[in-house]
Amino acid sequence: MDAAERVLAYGGGWLERAGALRTDAARLDALLTDPTTVVLPLWRDRCLVDGVGPVRLTAERASLVRSAAAETVFLGLDGDVAVFAVDLSGLSEPAAVEMAGATRAVDVRALVGRLDPADAAAQAYARGLLHWHRQQRYCGTCGAAAVAGGGGHVRTCSGAECGRLLFPRIEPAIIVLVEAPGSPERCLLARHAGAAAGAYSTLAGFVEVGESLEDAVRREMAEEAGVTVTDLAYQGSQAWPFPAGLMVGFRARVASEEVRVDGVELLEARWFSRAELRERVAAGRPLGRVDSIDHQLLSTWLAAGD
Ligand SMILES: [Zn+2]
Repeated sequence: MDAAERVLAYGGGWLERAGALRTDAARLDALLTDPTTVVLPLWRDRCLVDGVGPVRLTAERASLVRSAAAETVFLGLDGDVAVFAVDLSGLSEPAAVEMAGATRAVDVRALVGRLDPADAAAQAYARGLLHWHRQQRYCGTCGAAAVAGGGGHVRTCSGAECGRLLFPRIEPAIIVLVEAPGSPERCLLARHAGAAAGAYSTLAGFVEVGESLEDAVRREMAEEAGVTVTDLAYQGSQAWPFPAGLMVGFRARVASEEVRVDGVELLEARWFSRAELRERVAAGRPLGRVDSIDHQLLSTWLAAGD
């Protein structure tokens, strides 16, 4: 792992996923009663936190909590310690908070900068996986109930004639820092529909069926900003399980700086020099959400020139 990857929140491979253990039900049962095991309780996409941070239940407490949990999933190993997550979404918020011994429920993204990177990654992983379970209770083919297995990494249709296997879904999206031709070097930022006045970010969009990542970059930049991009260069990717994203970052160039926004997703797009971006930062306007690859793309570009 290089330094750039370490900086991106919610990823980093902190947990060993130990995929081979997922199908070993007896071993997973044994780990759930192991006194060293850690169980992370979540409620409807939120961490359950106390005065210190996200609650980590011991096996003893977790056995009580699990009786009320919709799902228990195996996240992986932190060294020798097994890490699970339980979903208390079936309870009311006060009941879930009390059962977990927490004080409140809060989105992991609201804890940016206060959470250890490994804790943020584990919470995001748990959030995404438990969210998928709540969305995949039934088989989309025959409508029968789907039953969780494999340590929470698969659901199996219970329909006698079907039995389809259902796996967690990830929805990839591309995010692009577009550079202008000529000098001074400038990048294209846009104001998205719903964003506050003066809030600019890089351009992004979902990858569609039948597209490569590069196809998606070219299409989205043409549709949203009316630009034809070339020289695509992969910059990195970020787990974004809010609820199911994977952000794939690129840089690209355009031959012409003419921009034409679609007026739907993008309200305005314009070119910024590094000096202008630095002025904005100095005036208290951050470069995107600090936990996002948007921020990473911009800050890396800003640091690469005068
Ligand atoms: Zn089915």
